[in-house]
Amino acid sequence: MTPVEALERVVHCLDRAHETGFKTKAFVRALDVVRSTPTHEIEERAANNTLKELDGIGDSSARLIKEALKGDTSYLDKIDRETRVPITPDGQVFRDALKGDCHLHSTWSDGGATIEAMANTAKALGHEYIVLTDHSARLTIAHGLDRDRLLQQLEVIAALNAQLAPFRILTGMEVDILEDGSLDLDDDLLARLDVVVASVHSKLRMDRFLMTPRMVRAVESPHVDILGHCTGRLIGKRPQSEFDADRVFAACAANNTAVEFNSRPERLDPPEELIAKAIEHGCWFSIDSDAHATGQLEWQPHGCNRAAASGVPLERVINTMDAHDLIAWTAG
Ligand SMILES: [Zn+2]
Ligand SMILES: [Zn+2]
Repeated sequence: MTPVEALERVVHCLDRAHETGFKTKAFVRALDVVRSTPTHEIEERAANNTLKELDGIGDSSARLIKEALKGDTSYLDKIDRETRVPITPDGQVFRDALKGDCHLHSTWSDGGATIEAMANTAKALGHEYIVLTDHSARLTIAHGLDRDRLLQQLEVIAALNAQLAPFRILTGMEVDILEDGSLDLDDDLLARLDVVVASVHSKLRMDRFLMTPRMVRAVESPHVDILGHCTGRLIGKRPQSEFDADRVFAACAANNTAVEFNSRPERLDPPEELIAKAIEHGCWFSIDSDAHATGQLEWQPHGCNRAAASGVPLERVINTMDAHDLIAWTAG
């Protein structure tokens, strides 16, 4: 393993542990430094114990680099052990059944890793496919894709698929649900995508008498396959949106729109009381990472633990299907 690979792995591990503080920033900085320094200089400095003279290399990163050059993985193994995402035995049954991940981002919108890096990591995690769901144009803060950039992305995905087969990158988008419940993408493109996730990202606090029809209209669209993070809550930071969950989930069930288990630790949507309602209505579900970095692809256990604990029927989870069946399901 090269020093760059070792540092990349550490950043991945800290990401999956949702560590966003000083330690992570220090390793990201060290990774930048090592990437932009000639290999022979890194090797010489490791041999002379002068790595720390490089601005951005501290005790921990210096140790990791030296060990990587010697083929020693002790420090890396320690970080690996300490950052594993906890999973319950029941959650593991769900995780083992998942064949893909239907909601994740790349550097094309606000993700931190390339499409290829996300695909390779998902493959290493045992998945057969991912659905790439970068943001739609309205979310300018996340560099959402307009029509032209989405068309470019579809070409890039086709080329990557030729290279990564049998692993598959399915086409998709996390499309904004606009204020009136219409969608932030033209119908012809919505129809062309394999999987469409629709999410509310704006006016999250609108009155429930407006939010309910807004969400219902979106999930009724024949193009929408998954309702993303339905309440929009950010735990400890933003309350959940107010809507008539019975009406929204009834519409999801009637229109074969899956309710997403969003596995991001700060979201964990839907909240428990709403999971029970969605099950009662006979909804489909999708257990997704909503990853914005490779390490976050390891977050699905959070959703699996919750789905299993709430008694979600495993056969109602759409990403237990293989890619072929999933595309038939979304097209149906
Ligand atoms: Zn979102
Ligand atoms: Zn997302």
